[in-house]
Formats: sequence, structure tokens, C-alpha cells
Amino acid sequence: MQRETATYRLQATRLQEQLPDGTTRCNLCLWRCRIKHGQRGFCQAHVNRDGTLFNLSYGIISAIDIGAIEDKPVKHFRPGTKVMSVGSYGCNFRCGGCHNLDISWGESALDELARGTSTAAYVPPEKLVEAALRQRVQGIAFTYSEPAVWLEYVLDVAALAKQAGLYTVYVSNSFVTDEALELLAPVLDVLCSDIKSTSDTFYQEICRPAKVSQVLQSIAKAKQLGMHVETRTNIIPGRNDDPAVMHGIAEWIRTHLGAESPWHITRFFPAFKLSDVPMTPTVSLWRAHDIARESGLNNVYVYDDKGCDCAGDNLPVAAYLEGNPEELHKVKKCSAACCGSEGVVLKKYEAQLRVK
Ligand code: SF4
Ligand code: SF4
Repeated sequence: MQRETATYRLQATRLQEQLPDGTTRCNLCLWRCRIKHGQRGFCQAHVNRDGTLFNLSYGIISAIDIGAIEDKPVKHFRPGTKVMSVGSYGCNFRCGGCHNLDISWGESALDELARGTSTAAYVPPEKLVEAALRQRVQGIAFTYSEPAVWLEYVLDVAALAKQAGLYTVYVSNSFVTDEALELLAPVLDVLCSDIKSTSDTFYQEICRPAKVSQVLQSIAKAKQLGMHVETRTNIIPGRNDDPAVMHGIAEWIRTHLGAESPWHITRFFPAFKLSDVPMTPTVSLWRAHDIARESGLNNVYVYDDKGCDCAGDNLPVAAYLEGNPEELHKVKKCSAACCGSEGVVLKKYEAQLRVK
């Protein structure tokens, strides 16, 4: 399918499969959602239009920031260089302690795109790469939301970034399919992945079908495909701070990624459904560090001041881009003919239009 990127329009989902029952399956992440016409997948970012899946959020940018690659956190790849971090809207998990739900889950932003009323910034891939070069960074990182649910754009930007001599970083929960990783591998340099726990119960509370083994298998696959892999665990008091869990994560990293593979231990800050859970005590962070060192990991990093890779205090997106901010934020309606002049892509909103 031809890719038109000058103006906002839905882009066909890269990994999709039409099934005999009339649904279409999205194979980007391990939800493998089966979606009917006029409906969306779990992440809300992919919609079925007459049997074909489309990504709603292609080119839609929620946040941009520039900083050291060490802040992602990635410590053993091009240290001392700067990276432009970008994110869209949408995630395939629903973590109780997630920060910045407006961006990470982005449900209302994605809903506005489906209604044809969004004013979010649309940035074609070549404009984003131009912005990164203008800002004199050495790489682009896909973060803030889950990049797997926005893979179409990640792939296009990453391919152009490589041509321009920039490296690429992917900050992920690793609930992603092997097929998606195989598409990413030729254009992706670094995976910084969460390992949230060794407990299936923990994972299933934040994402019903997720199993620890699936997440770990995806991380191992990324390494087999040649990506530089670093891992991170956000330690939440009473949820995943058991020494046996820390030991299990450290052992897995040593066995599957190697004794030199970096493990980043970050602090939990209360948020959302876990607002009543206290900040991680320093002693818990260092206990995890000591367990990892005893398990044979040689590069363990503790962050007193860092939780998830959130997009809280960033400048407005327009600050990094050329052109008129009003133009950047004008109302987005899909320019494809099938969406009609209203740019509406969901069945429920089509019904609302008919009764107007
Ligand atoms: S990216 Fe994942 S959650 Fe979203 S539609 Fe595809 S399979 Fe479902
Ligand atoms: S913490 Fe990360 S993986 Fe979990 S819901 Fe938020 S953005 Fe998604």
C-alpha cells in the first residue's frame, strides 16, 4: 500500500491478518486483537475499516524532549551523546501506577482522532528526522507511550534516521510479537525494556493476557536479532520488591543477556491507582542492587530520582519543529476518501453523525 505522509491520514497496520470469521487480527503486540469493522483494538490506536486495520496515531506526536541517552536509561550505548525522545498516544498495558495517563494511555486523544476532532501535532517522518538533525542530537528514542502500538511510524522514522546517521532507541514493555521485532531489527539499535516482575499475577493485573515468559522471550529475541538490550525494573513497595523477585530478574538477565548487561533499578513514585503506595525506600533499591551483584551482574544502576520515562515537564512539541504552531495544531481529519468529509472512523461516531 502506498504511504502518503504529507497530511494526516490513517496508515494500514503493518502486521494484520484477515480471519475466516470476518474479523481482522492485529499482530503488532501479543494481545493479537481480533477487531471487527468500526471497532478498535485494546490499545485504541488501531481501527478496522471494512476489514482492513489502520493505525490512527501515525505521525501524531504527544511529546518531544532532548536529553542524554543515559536518562532513558541506557548507559552502555554511545555514552555522552544526546537523543531526541518522542512519543505518541496509546499503550497495551494498564499499569496501576502509570504516570501521565493522558499520554501513555491517551484514550481521549485517540478518541478525538477517531472522531475527526483532534488538534494533536502531526509530524511526517522526514520532518521529525530533520528536527533531530537541526537540534544536533545523535539519536531518536521512541518512548513515553508504548512504541509497539505505533509501529508504522516508528519503522518509517527509524529507517530515515539510519540513513541520516542517527541511532535509534526503543523504550518498551516488551509485550510485542516476534514478527514486530523482526520488522524493527534492521532499523533499531537499542531496546530498553521493562522487566516488571517475575510474577504472572503481577503482569495479569496490568494486562490480562500477559505472562512473564512472553515478555522475557521478547527481550531475548531482541538480543538474538542484534539489538543492544538494557533492562529496567521500577520497584514498587509491596508489589514487586520481594528479594526472590529481584533474584529471579537478575538471574534471568545474567543467563540470557549476559553478566555485563546493564540493569537499571528505578524508584516508584505514587500515582493513579497506587497513590496510597509509598515511594520506594532507598534501602529497597540498594537491596535489589546487592542481590543483583551477588547474582553475578556487573553493571547495576540505582536511581533515587527516576521512575518511568515520563513526559511531564517537556516544552510544547512546536518548540522543536519549524513552521507555524497553529498550522501544526489545526484539526486533523483523515484525508482518505473512505472516512468522508467529517473524518470519522468509528462506527459509533458514524451513528452519531447520522442522527445530527
Ligand atoms: S497493537 Fe496490540 S493492543 Fe493494539 S490493536 Fe494491535 S494487538 Fe491490539
Ligand atoms: S507504565 Fe508504561 S507499560 Fe504501564 S501502562 Fe504506563 S506506559 Fe504502559
